[in-house]
Amino acid sequence: MERLFQASVDEVGKLIGLGKSELSILEDADVAADELLVSEYEKYLERKYNPEVPAVLARHNLMGVPIQERYGGRGARQLVESLFLERLGQTGLGVITFVDVHLCLGSLAVQDWGTQEQKERYLPGAAKGDVVFAYGLTEPEAGSDPASLRTTYVKDGDGYRLSGSKYLISNGSIATNLIAFARPADGKGVTAFVVDTSDKGFSVDMRLEEKIGLFTSDTSLLTLDDVHVDREDLLGEEGKGLSLAYAALLNGRIGIGSGCLGVMEDCLNQVRERTTSRVQHGKEIARHQLIQRHVAFIESNLEACRWLDYRAALKKDEYEKDLRNLALRADADRLSAVAKYMSSRSAFESADRAVQCFGGFGYSIMSPVAKHFLDSRVARIYEGTDEIMELKIASSVLGREFEAYR
Ligand SMILES: Cc1cc2nc3c(=O)[nH]c(=O)nc-3n(C[C@H](O)[C@H](O)[C@H](O)COP(=O)(O)OP(=O)(O)OC[C@H]3O[C@@H](n4cnc5c(N)ncnc54)[C@H](O)[C@@H]3O)c2cc1C
Repeated sequence: MERLFQASVDEVGKLIGLGKSELSILEDADVAADELLVSEYEKYLERKYNPEVPAVLARHNLMGVPIQERYGGRGARQLVESLFLERLGQTGLGVITFVDVHLCLGSLAVQDWGTQEQKERYLPGAAKGDVVFAYGLTEPEAGSDPASLRTTYVKDGDGYRLSGSKYLISNGSIATNLIAFARPADGKGVTAFVVDTSDKGFSVDMRLEEKIGLFTSDTSLLTLDDVHVDREDLLGEEGKGLSLAYAALLNGRIGIGSGCLGVMEDCLNQVRERTTSRVQHGKEIARHQLIQRHVAFIESNLEACRWLDYRAALKKDEYEKDLRNLALRADADRLSAVAKYMSSRSAFESADRAVQCFGGFGYSIMSPVAKHFLDSRVARIYEGTDEIMELKIASSVLGREFEAYR
């Protein structure tokens, strides 16, 4: 299907002033998205994880888009990464979830906060696809309130031993490395670690396949049973793990917002194709004014959310140059929450309206828009629910003393 609502690479390049190597990332993303469409659809119908995703991305050198070139990545700034995820997002949020976790929550956490030795150890592999990251913050008893997490660590010689459960972890059963958050068994503060998933004591308890959507993305329940990690596997400073977790989510939320733009674009393309060919009451249904209202909704929301997402990305690029600047971080954090909140809601409502335009066929699991309807719902839950985003955005306006979610 011709993608009418996605600006051509040339057009984007002119508008935003992208360089040649940046444009080539978007070109590669378009090719990879085309290659992934069929396997994504087939695996969605089978309700199974799609193993083609890392393979295709690695083949097109897209596993390390924001990783610096000196570590084998493509060195993309956040804005380009967002444009890349927007293009991939047309294949659906299954692909986006894989990439967002591997890159925004995993690789960038190591790149931004890791030691030189950690960067050299993990990033070249991540850029090639030999290293795949998962991000383990959520636990059975700690979701919206990560400060209440119960995974613990104790000192063990020159390293540590970690014990606990991590719930609803994307890439959990396929990752080579987990960014795991834990608290000292006998003290306060949360610390981040890079755990090797092949280590003794790490196990995948269950692949969570009974989801209402997002079948092509792996989601797992993990157990850490006295897993030994070396001192060198501690990520960032001891006791500063939550700050690192939130910094990673700042990246992740922009990425989810970008992926949702792609979902809206695909909804628009699908709706255009269907409504200009389906005839009822003697004319194409696209000629009925109430159908045009759905088209107008999706298009206006897409354009509005684009600006929010690009603006958050530009602010993140500014912050990236000065990672210790707390005012910049707060600004980028606010904008990434706004972008994720608006884009995820718009993507879900766009998919709902697309289902409506498709009529009875839209309600079939076989229709492409039903996949977006089922998949996009999760974007209003993971990486911060709607409610947590609302509270976060409100307190960024009202001031920290009005924070309602701590
Ligand atoms: C498919 C999928 C993939 C995921 N991938 C990952 C992953 O890779 N890594 C990871 O760490 N986590 C992951 N998650 C977990 C996700 O981030 C959590 O589900 C989410 O943060 C919400 O936590 P919870 O499910 O425990 O809900 P709860 O925190 O129990 O919230 C339930 C409801 O209460 C509301 N609520 C809670 N506290 C407040 C408050 N103070 N004020 C108002 N309302 C409130 C919430 O908004 C929500 O509506 C994933 C989840 C899913 C579904």
